[in-house]
Amino acid sequence: MTTTQINVDIVIIGGGIAGLWLLNRLCSNGHNAILFEQGELGSAQTIASQGMIHGGIKYALGGILTGASEAIADMPDHWRRCLQGEGDVDLRGAKILSDHFYLWSTQSISSRVSSFFASKVTRGRVDNVPKSALPEVFDHSEFKGKLYKLADLVLDVPSVIAKLTANCAGSIFSIDWKKSRLKKNSNSSIDYLSIEIDKQTTLNINAQQFIFTAGEGNEALQTMVSSDRPAMQRRPLKQVLVKHSYNHAIYAHCMGSNPSPRLTISSHETADGKMVWYLGGDLATQGVALSDTEIIDNAKKELRELFPWLDFSDSEWATLYINRAEPQQKGLIKPDKAFVAAAHSCSNALVGWPTKLTLSPNMSDEVITLLEARKIAPQFEHKHPALQQLPVPNIASPCWESVFSKKVE
Ligand SMILES: Cc1cc2nc3c(=O)[nH]c(=O)nc-3n(C[C@H](O)[C@H](O)[C@H](O)COP(=O)(O)OP(=O)(O)OC[C@H]3O[C@@H](n4cnc5c(N)ncnc54)[C@H](O)[C@@H]3O)c2cc1C
Repeated sequence: MTTTQINVDIVIIGGGIAGLWLLNRLCSNGHNAILFEQGELGSAQTIASQGMIHGGIKYALGGILTGASEAIADMPDHWRRCLQGEGDVDLRGAKILSDHFYLWSTQSISSRVSSFFASKVTRGRVDNVPKSALPEVFDHSEFKGKLYKLADLVLDVPSVIAKLTANCAGSIFSIDWKKSRLKKNSNSSIDYLSIEIDKQTTLNINAQQFIFTAGEGNEALQTMVSSDRPAMQRRPLKQVLVKHSYNHAIYAHCMGSNPSPRLTISSHETADGKMVWYLGGDLATQGVALSDTEIIDNAKKELRELFPWLDFSDSEWATLYINRAEPQQKGLIKPDKAFVAAAHSCSNALVGWPTKLTLSPNMSDEVITLLEARKIAPQFEHKHPALQQLPVPNIASPCWESVFSKKVE
């Protein structure tokens, strides 16, 4: 039986957007950082996301800028710099689906919101779209609403994950928890991560710091190290997907009477050459407890009302139930910012949730500030060759490629 001791600066556990972005930042800062993923990279919330990198106007539909809308305001520009190779992470080659997002109302928008959109505070973030410039899908005599263009980005998430992964090739590994464990010592810190390669070989990986970025899986990781804080909340969604033959790629929020979007639509081309509209917003939050048939009926009704000039009768329909995992808030509300904190009773572990794909850069900044405060500087230059015995995870495939083969219940 051989046990190989390996030293690295940082072990990240969880390969969604949070872990991958952080790995990119730490590797370019010179840290010897490695990441472990138990399934496929991005396989939970990240691949299910609609890919919108938004600047917070969606949170200001009540007519005022809130903490949430302001924390996120710089994010579209931050991501744009990364996409051009001028940011803190190199995203060159990741695919942009749209460099703006639309917001529309069916009736005349409330005067408070329309004067807010016309005010100085939203300048450069919201533009009125005149009738003469309506995109094809809205360019119809039955469209009576008002359309705005937001300076938000929409990204093809699988290509973002692929780029973040390629940037750190050799530092990302699969982990099987049936053969691995986090071993704690008597000083209430993690001594090492032990991984059994086979009956004869074990790797014991020591790190200055362990960082949990496993989304919903952070809870189980914390239990492994007997930490019950920071606590996590789950806010479920039931998204609806409609696969049709129109070629309209639409990225838009429909504004109803609530301060949150009535419907959010992103569009994704599938491998069989069709278009999927991926539907979220109030439809998905308020319909979370409905059966598939009930929520699909609601979605059909919404599309009939909002796009009476389009015919979805030959379309295929599917749903996706998924939890958003976030730091616990009073009253299960949406957190404003990315979150990172020390794991309770585990002195060398941090736990993070970006709370939005958009805010992953912000989460990494917070981690780096905490690492500096903890004086975690790069110490171990080379990757131990024994790490290369570990398997490497695949990149997850998006739900619009898989859900249509499942039975609707
Ligand atoms: C339907 C939906 C739409 C969304 N749309 C948007 C959007 O358009 N814009 C936006 O900004 N945000 C959006 N979000 C929010 C955004 O997707 C999440 O905030 C973000 O993806 C969270 O990333 P994460 O890396 O923390 O978690 P996840 O993406 O959940 O990744 C966690 C990873 O950790 C792995 N893991 C779990 N447990 C373990 C373990 N024990 N060991 C190793 N690995 C483990 C998982 O397999 C997974 O790969 C959306 C969320 C949902 C659910």
